[in-house]
Amino acid sequence: LFISFEGIDGSGKSTQARLLADALKTRGYDVVLTREPGGSPGAEEIRALVLQGDPDRWSAETEILLFTAARRDHLERTIRPALADGKIVICDRFADSTRMYQGLSRGDLRALVDQLHSLMIGQEPDLTVLIDMDPGVGLSRALSRQGAEERFESFGQDLQEKMRSGFLALAQEFPDRFVVIDGARPLEQVAADVQTVVEARLT
Ligand code: C5P
Repeated sequence: LFISFEGIDGSGKSTQARLLADALKTRGYDVVLTREPGGSPGAEEIRALVLQGDPDRWSAETEILLFTAARRDHLERTIRPALADGKIVICDRFADSTRMYQGLSRGDLRALVDQLHSLMIGQEPDLTVLIDMDPGVGLSRALSRQGAEERFESFGQDLQEKMRSGFLALAQEFPDRFVVIDGARPLEQVAADVQTVVEARLT
Protein backbone atom coordinates (compact mmCIF):
# COMPACT_ATOMS: atom_id res chain seq x y z
CA LEU A 1 0.00 0.00 0.00
CA PHE A 2 1.35 3.36 -1.08
CA ILE A 3 -0.03 6.37 0.82
CA SER A 4 0.89 10.02 0.20
CA PHE A 5 0.16 13.08 2.33
CA GLU A 6 -0.40 16.41 0.66
CA GLY A 7 -1.25 19.91 1.79
CA ILE A 8 0.04 23.45 1.95
CA ASP A 9 2.99 24.47 4.12
CA GLY A 10 2.06 24.32 7.78
CA SER A 11 -0.96 22.08 7.22
CA GLY A 12 0.47 19.50 9.59
CA LYS A 13 0.83 16.78 6.95
CA SER A 14 4.34 15.77 8.08
CA THR A 15 3.16 15.31 11.66
CA GLN A 16 0.16 13.31 10.45
CA ALA A 17 2.36 11.13 8.23
CA ARG A 18 4.58 10.35 11.23
CA LEU A 19 1.61 9.64 13.55
CA LEU A 20 0.14 7.26 10.99
CA ALA A 21 3.48 5.49 10.55
CA ASP A 22 3.80 5.08 14.33
CA ALA A 23 0.24 3.79 14.69
CA LEU A 24 0.69 1.23 11.90
CA LYS A 25 4.07 0.07 13.27
CA THR A 26 2.49 -0.42 16.69
CA ARG A 27 -0.04 -2.67 15.02
CA GLY A 28 2.74 -4.77 13.54
CA TYR A 29 2.86 -3.45 10.00
CA ASP A 30 6.14 -2.98 8.21
CA VAL A 31 6.18 0.71 7.35
CA VAL A 32 8.55 2.94 5.40
CA LEU A 33 8.07 6.65 6.13
CA THR A 34 9.64 8.80 3.47
CA ARG A 35 9.37 12.30 2.00
CA GLU A 36 9.68 14.44 -1.09
CA PRO A 37 11.59 16.16 -2.35
CA GLY A 38 14.09 13.60 -1.10
CA GLY A 39 13.61 10.11 0.26
CA SER A 40 16.78 8.57 -1.24
CA PRO A 41 20.39 9.77 -0.98
CA GLY A 42 20.42 11.17 -4.53
CA ALA A 43 17.01 12.79 -4.21
CA GLU A 44 18.02 14.42 -0.90
CA GLU A 45 20.97 16.00 -2.74
CA ILE A 46 18.59 17.34 -5.38
CA ARG A 47 16.33 18.63 -2.58
CA ALA A 48 19.22 20.71 -1.26
CA LEU A 49 19.97 22.01 -4.77
CA VAL A 50 16.38 23.12 -5.29
CA LEU A 51 15.20 24.31 -1.88
CA GLN A 52 18.29 26.04 -0.54
CA GLY A 53 19.71 29.29 -1.77
CA ASP A 54 18.44 31.62 -4.46
CA PRO A 55 14.85 30.70 -5.45
CA ASP A 56 15.54 32.03 -8.97
CA ARG A 57 18.58 29.84 -9.52
CA TRP A 58 16.60 27.48 -11.78
CA SER A 59 14.06 28.27 -14.44
CA ALA A 60 10.58 26.89 -13.84
CA GLU A 61 11.16 24.18 -16.47
CA THR A 62 14.55 23.14 -15.06
CA GLU A 63 13.02 22.95 -11.62
CA ILE A 64 10.38 20.53 -12.92
CA LEU A 65 13.14 18.38 -14.42
CA LEU A 66 15.02 18.37 -11.11
CA PHE A 67 11.92 17.41 -9.12
CA THR A 68 11.13 14.67 -11.64
CA ALA A 69 14.71 13.37 -11.47
CA ALA A 70 14.52 13.33 -7.67
CA ARG A 71 11.19 11.47 -7.80
CA ARG A 72 12.54 8.90 -10.24
CA ASP A 73 15.50 8.17 -7.95
CA HIS A 74 13.22 8.00 -4.89
CA LEU A 75 10.91 5.61 -6.72
CA GLU A 76 13.74 3.34 -7.91
CA ARG A 77 15.75 3.25 -4.71
CA THR A 78 13.18 3.55 -1.93
CA ILE A 79 9.51 3.27 -2.89
CA ARG A 80 9.42 0.37 -5.37
CA PRO A 81 11.76 -1.90 -3.37
CA ALA A 82 9.64 -1.33 -0.23
CA LEU A 83 6.37 -2.02 -2.06
CA ALA A 84 7.90 -5.15 -3.61
CA ASP A 85 8.70 -6.35 -0.06
CA GLY A 86 5.05 -5.89 0.90
CA LYS A 87 5.70 -2.85 3.09
CA ILE A 88 3.38 0.10 3.58
CA VAL A 89 4.99 3.22 2.12
CA ILE A 90 3.94 6.56 3.59
CA CYS A 91 5.24 9.52 1.64
CA ASP A 92 5.17 13.12 2.84
CA ARG A 93 4.36 14.80 -0.53
CA PHE A 94 4.55 13.09 -3.92
CA ALA A 95 3.76 14.03 -7.53
CA ASP A 96 0.67 16.06 -6.56
CA SER A 97 2.98 18.59 -4.89
CA THR A 98 4.79 19.05 -8.19
CA ARG A 99 1.46 19.36 -10.04
CA MET A 100 0.71 22.21 -7.63
CA TYR A 101 3.96 23.97 -6.73
CA GLN A 102 5.85 23.57 -9.99
CA GLY A 103 2.70 23.31 -12.10
CA LEU A 104 0.95 26.43 -10.84
CA SER A 105 3.31 28.78 -9.03
CA ARG A 106 5.36 30.10 -11.96
CA GLY A 107 2.83 30.11 -14.78
CA ASP A 108 0.70 27.23 -15.98
CA LEU A 109 3.09 24.32 -16.42
CA ARG A 110 0.77 21.54 -15.35
CA ALA A 111 0.84 19.90 -18.81
CA LEU A 112 4.64 19.68 -18.72
CA VAL A 113 4.55 18.20 -15.21
CA ASP A 114 2.02 15.59 -16.36
CA GLN A 115 3.95 14.72 -19.52
CA LEU A 116 7.16 14.12 -17.60
CA HIS A 117 5.23 12.21 -14.97
CA SER A 118 3.80 9.78 -17.48
CA LEU A 119 7.18 9.37 -19.19
CA MET A 120 9.38 8.90 -16.14
CA ILE A 121 7.24 8.13 -13.06
CA GLY A 122 3.95 6.55 -14.06
CA GLN A 123 3.00 5.69 -10.51
CA GLU A 124 0.32 7.20 -8.30
CA PRO A 125 -0.29 6.48 -4.63
CA ASP A 126 -3.13 4.07 -3.77
CA LEU A 127 -4.37 6.66 -1.30
CA THR A 128 -3.64 10.39 -1.02
CA VAL A 129 -4.56 12.12 2.22
CA LEU A 130 -5.05 15.84 1.67
CA ILE A 131 -4.78 17.73 4.95
CA ASP A 132 -6.83 20.80 4.13
CA MET A 133 -6.18 24.01 6.02
CA ASP A 134 -6.76 27.74 5.77
CA PRO A 135 -3.50 29.30 4.50
CA GLY A 136 -3.51 31.99 7.21
CA VAL A 137 -3.39 29.30 9.89
CA GLY A 138 -1.00 27.16 7.88
CA LEU A 139 1.46 29.94 7.16
CA SER A 140 1.71 31.14 10.75
CA ARG A 141 2.28 27.55 11.84
CA ALA A 142 4.90 27.03 9.16
CA LEU A 143 6.79 30.23 9.91
CA SER A 144 6.88 29.56 13.64
CA ARG A 145 8.43 26.16 13.08
CA GLN A 146 12.07 25.74 13.92
CA GLY A 147 14.46 24.81 11.16
CA ALA A 148 12.11 26.09 8.50
CA GLU A 149 13.78 26.04 5.14
CA GLU A 150 14.32 29.39 3.46
CA ARG A 151 12.08 28.66 0.57
CA PHE A 152 8.62 28.89 2.00
CA GLU A 153 9.24 32.40 3.24
CA SER A 154 9.12 33.41 -0.39
CA PHE A 155 5.67 31.82 -0.70
CA GLY A 156 3.20 34.46 0.35
CA GLN A 157 -0.38 33.99 1.41
CA ASP A 158 -1.76 34.49 -2.11
CA LEU A 159 0.28 31.61 -3.44
CA GLN A 160 -0.70 29.35 -0.53
CA GLU A 161 -4.33 30.27 -1.22
CA LYS A 162 -3.85 29.21 -4.83
CA MET A 163 -2.19 25.97 -3.70
CA ARG A 164 -5.05 25.21 -1.34
CA SER A 165 -7.72 25.56 -3.99
CA GLY A 166 -5.49 23.73 -6.44
CA PHE A 167 -5.17 20.77 -4.08
CA LEU A 168 -8.95 20.71 -3.53
CA ALA A 169 -9.44 20.69 -7.31
CA LEU A 170 -6.93 17.82 -7.62
CA ALA A 171 -8.95 15.87 -5.06
CA GLN A 172 -11.94 16.21 -7.40
CA GLU A 173 -9.84 15.26 -10.39
CA PHE A 174 -8.67 12.01 -8.72
CA PRO A 175 -11.60 11.07 -6.48
CA ASP A 176 -10.64 7.38 -6.34
CA ARG A 177 -7.45 7.96 -4.43
CA PHE A 178 -7.96 11.33 -2.65
CA VAL A 179 -9.44 11.80 0.80
CA VAL A 180 -9.76 15.35 2.14
CA ILE A 181 -9.38 15.79 5.90
CA ASP A 182 -9.98 19.04 7.78
CA GLY A 183 -6.61 19.89 9.32
CA ALA A 184 -7.78 22.86 11.38
CA ARG A 185 -8.67 20.67 14.37
CA PRO A 186 -6.64 19.23 17.25
CA LEU A 187 -4.04 16.90 15.82
CA GLU A 188 -5.36 13.84 17.67
CA GLN A 189 -8.72 14.27 15.94
CA VAL A 190 -7.07 14.66 12.56
CA ALA A 191 -4.92 11.57 13.26
CA ALA A 192 -7.99 9.53 14.25
CA ASP A 193 -9.70 10.41 10.95
CA VAL A 194 -6.57 9.50 8.99
CA GLN A 195 -6.40 6.11 10.73
CA THR A 196 -10.05 5.37 10.03
CA VAL A 197 -9.54 6.07 6.33
CA VAL A 198 -6.38 3.96 6.14
CA GLU A 199 -7.92 1.08 8.07
CA ALA A 200 -10.73 0.91 5.53
CA ARG A 201 -8.08 0.40 2.82
CA LEU A 202 -6.23 -2.27 4.77
CA THR A 203 -9.18 -4.59 5.21
O1 C5P B 1 6.93 19.53 2.71
P1 C5P B 1 8.11 20.35 3.10
O2 C5P B 1 7.80 21.37 4.16
O3 C5P B 1 9.32 19.52 3.43
O4 C5P B 1 8.51 21.18 1.80
C1 C5P B 1 9.60 22.05 1.83
C2 C5P B 1 9.34 23.27 0.96
O5 C5P B 1 9.43 22.94 -0.41
C3 C5P B 1 7.97 23.83 1.18
O6 C5P B 1 8.09 25.23 1.32
C4 C5P B 1 7.22 23.50 -0.07
O7 C5P B 1 6.31 24.49 -0.38
C5 C5P B 1 8.32 23.42 -1.10
N1 C5P B 1 8.00 22.47 -2.17
C6 C5P B 1 7.99 22.91 -3.48
N2 C5P B 1 7.69 22.02 -4.47
C7 C5P B 1 7.43 20.73 -4.19
C8 C5P B 1 7.46 20.27 -2.87
C9 C5P B 1 7.76 21.18 -1.87
O8 C5P B 1 8.21 24.07 -3.76
N3 C5P B 1 7.14 19.89 -5.20
